[in-house]
Amino acid sequence: MKMQINGKAAEACGGEYFDVKNPATGEIIDQVPKGTEDDIALAVEAAESAFKGWASTSPQQRGIVFYRAAEIVRRKKEELAALLTKEQGKPLAEARGELEGFAHVLEYYCGLAGSLRGDFVPVPGNGYAFTVKNPLGVCAAITPWNMPALIMGWKIAPALISGNTFVLKPASNTPLINLTLASIFYEAGLPAGVLNVVTGSGETAGESLVRNPDVRKISFTGETGTGKRVAEIAASGMKRVTLELGGSDPMIVCDDANLESAVSGAIRGRFYNCGQTCTAVKRLYVFESVAEEFIKKLESGVKNLKVGNGLDKNTDMGPLNNRHQLNFIKELIAEIEEKEEGKIITGGKVPEFEGSDKGYFFEPTLVSDVPAESRLLKEEVFGPLLPIVTVKNLDEAIEAANRSNYGLGASIWTKDLDRIRTGCEQLNAGIIWVNQHLKVAPEVPFGGVKESGFGRENGPDILSEYMETRTIMLKT
Ligand code: NDP
Repeated sequence: MKMQINGKAAEACGGEYFDVKNPATGEIIDQVPKGTEDDIALAVEAAESAFKGWASTSPQQRGIVFYRAAEIVRRKKEELAALLTKEQGKPLAEARGELEGFAHVLEYYCGLAGSLRGDFVPVPGNGYAFTVKNPLGVCAAITPWNMPALIMGWKIAPALISGNTFVLKPASNTPLINLTLASIFYEAGLPAGVLNVVTGSGETAGESLVRNPDVRKISFTGETGTGKRVAEIAASGMKRVTLELGGSDPMIVCDDANLESAVSGAIRGRFYNCGQTCTAVKRLYVFESVAEEFIKKLESGVKNLKVGNGLDKNTDMGPLNNRHQLNFIKELIAEIEEKEEGKIITGGKVPEFEGSDKGYFFEPTLVSDVPAESRLLKEEVFGPLLPIVTVKNLDEAIEAANRSNYGLGASIWTKDLDRIRTGCEQLNAGIIWVNQHLKVAPEVPFGGVKESGFGRENGPDILSEYMETRTIMLKT
């Protein structure tokens, strides 16, 4: 597949390509151009040239393009889902859900198009003041491989609907769905150059995109260390930045929780997308009075999960996306065994089925009796491994839950209103769920505190992140 520059398929200036592989089989499914600094410069130039025209269209006209693109995505959902599964690994049902989510994001912003407006402000004296909102210019994003379609939607939609033009650098493991979705925007009537996609490595294409002086805003999702690097470069160019970084979300199960629903919440919360979601349940704290019953039910649910190729309709959990992720999970398991830091209740190894050695498969794994100093509780564990810790009460659970450098999401499972209020007030995270975990929606802000990043995506206030306010003082 080629890059998308100025509304056309483009080769990289250096003429080099890299492979995109299927994480379930190791097979090469396609090749994409290895974009260079020159390709980034061309894409930014195309976005800059398209800016004046796009900014002068009405938000409603932009919304019509979004509406058409969403309709095409829904119509082509099956073929897009198969592509997403092939390059990312997730089961088809999850891929379909992600694409529906992408379409929903476009529809939401299409609805917001009519709300772009400034203010009229009476000021003391014989004058008036107005504020008008103008788009920033060329905006950019660097996206990860875990939810490539949905995160692309979160980044391009508010920028484009506000009249900005865009350059996207997708993750090198999952560029195909991003390139395909960009071409759908053109099919829907987007003018040339408004959305450009440059494939290539983070170090080369990613960094030169952040450095490019004509890029006014960068939105990044990925690892905290990479986010800090992006922020550093962006700061020297006085660019706006939104950072959605790692998470180590705690889930607290109180003794009055509906255990059946907490068990299914924990299974989906941890093992959806093979555990590779920023807001996955990454630490589970359960009250000791119900721990035995809860863990038994959880174990039986987890043992029922079928691991396999995401294209197989019976698969509940696909492979990890890449070898680096698989090796990291194996390293953690070896460390647990070596240091005796926890008891593996189920899982803990590569599953055995025909071809399992060709992909990056790992069994869904539960570990109990995890000590506070374990890496499982301190680092972002991006894979199918759930550490379980028993606690005496809510105070102890909240204290342990907040003992993390991250602060993306957190959930509390209880029927008690006082406990709900305490959880909502005291858990230090950008998103608090009550009796659920993982659900996100473009209608509400999304983002974290501490090392989980800064800035928010989604929700109606996001549009101001992509616009400058201009004040006009009028004397009559
Ligand atoms: P990265 O942060 O390296 O990758 C995310 C994106 O950043 C990719 O598009 C990548 O490009 C790009 N990138 C990499 N280096 C740079 C750079 N120096 N400047 C600009 N862009 C860059 O994450 P990984 O894919 O390496 O995943 C590692 C860990 O990060 C995971 O184990 C997980 O813990 C965390 N992670 C968290 C996510 C979240 O949603 N919270 C999402 C993904 C990862 P390229 O693909 O070409 O390297």
